Amino acid sequence: MRRILLCCAALLCPFFVHAVEVTSLPVASNVPGGIAIVDTAMTATEGRYRNDKIMLVEFEGTQYAIIGIPLNAAIGEHSLTLESADGTEVTRLFAVQDKLYVEQRLTITNERQVNPNNDDMVRINRESAEMNEAFSSWDETLQPVFAMRAPVDGVRSSSFGLKRFFNEQPRAPHSGMDIAAPEGTPIYAPAPGVVRSTGEYFFNGNTIILDHGHGLISLYCHMNTIDVVPGTRVETGEQIGKVGQTGRVTGPHLHWSINLNNVRVDPALFIQD
Ligand code: ZN
Repeated sequence: MRRILLCCAALLCPFFVHAVEVTSLPVASNVPGGIAIVDTAMTATEGRYRNDKIMLVEFEGTQYAIIGIPLNAAIGEHSLTLESADGTEVTRLFAVQDKLYVEQRLTITNERQVNPNNDDMVRINRESAEMNEAFSSWDETLQPVFAMRAPVDGVRSSSFGLKRFFNEQPRAPHSGMDIAAPEGTPIYAPAPGVVRSTGEYFFNGNTIILDHGHGLISLYCHMNTIDVVPGTRVETGEQIGKVGQTGRVTGPHLHWSINLNNVRVDPALFIQD
């Protein structure tokens, strides 16, 4: 009896179901750095993948889990857990296929940007904790929009996931898309959101983090100017800054990253033109 009552409550009360209604889905790509879209086949109130909360959406009457797959994910079967209003937990499986990411070798003239000194490391660790906090943000009040416009009119490279070497030394894979454009080119919000934080960082230069809701968060780096302040609501196409070459760069460009459940995924999966 208790179970029936709770189910009815879940149907009647939207606060019981933490799925948000969306008007489109991103492009699914079951590879490291991609996005898995899993039909929950139930009315889940919460979902988790690798202990991180995942986005649950309602699209055309069906509930889906939208999962960011990390670049270092193992190839094979992965699982997520879903919880219903009565506390029952179920497991769903999805496959992750292999994807070849090629190597990229870059020469950085400022040696400290490749091998930072001790003071730099203190700064870098502080900044990465600051950014990580913004990436972990979960705003239930924002409705995520997956169909995005490119944030800059420029040359979009397919640079996401490249295995990177700076001055022949291996570093973390490239976690975003680089869009080359002249210094001063306007950067626009690709989707509605709230400015979660801004900063002037060692590697990323002038940076903005936009929160699009439910764990969908985007990052803009190396900017010449930051034209918004934290807490501001921005709409699609609103100017947030200008292209620059601050931080570790080899020329003016925008570095654009997208996070889902605090995992960097390929921004190309969101651009619809
Ligand atoms: Zn980049």
